[in-house]
Amino acid sequence: MSVKLVLLGPPGSGKGTQGALLSKFYGIPQISTGDMLRQAVDEGAELGKRVQDMLTRGQLVPDEVMVSVVEERVSREDCAQGFILDGFPRTTDQARALERVLPGGIDAVVFLHVPREEVIARLAGRLTCRKCSAVFSKRDSSLCPVCGGDLYQRDDDLRSTVEHRLKVYEEHTAPLVGYYRTLDKVLEFDGTGPVEEVARGVESAIARVIA
Ligand code: AMP
Repeated sequence: MSVKLVLLGPPGSGKGTQGALLSKFYGIPQISTGDMLRQAVDEGAELGKRVQDMLTRGQLVPDEVMVSVVEERVSREDCAQGFILDGFPRTTDQARALERVLPGGIDAVVFLHVPREEVIARLAGRLTCRKCSAVFSKRDSSLCPVCGGDLYQRDDDLRSTVEHRLKVYEEHTAPLVGYYRTLDKVLEFDGTGPVEEVARGVESAIARVIA
């Protein structure tokens, strides 16, 4: 059996955190397009050079670039039993392209609701591990409690860019909820509760869908 999931919600709604838990639970990879792009930037890869400015400014990378990155990634062996897409699709055109790339489409969309003020506070106060990409609140230590890597503040988590990313989300990504509702694939959750509690709700809702 395979499980193909999409995580949807504004930046800072907990997609990365929930994706990591779901990935462990189902034993399938979490595919974070943001992490893939940041890695390409860090490695000085061609893709990284092309997208670096867009990432820093919180602008969307063109659909055709993202679709080819994801198409290649989901065709790898480790995705045979499914995967969790975190940060893709982000536009209706990307969602349509995904339906073309995946013969049976995705199984479900996990939509995390978090109010705007909460998202702004979370992003402006979050640190990311350079090594394993886990995220923590600024109140925590300066080393990653998971892998010991360095924690840093992402350029695009600066308050000025956060507002812009939320605008981009509202304009381009939020309409995807309607798109996936017409396909009857949306599972909705309150993303403000304790991480483990949200995860349990998500897992039992998915279990009903893929049963
Ligand atoms: P994230 O880590 O998901 O917040 O993504 C960080 C940045 O990567 C975004 O602000 C965009 O610049 C870029 N990005 C990631 N995924 C996509 C996507 N599916 N479409 C366009 N741009 C993306």
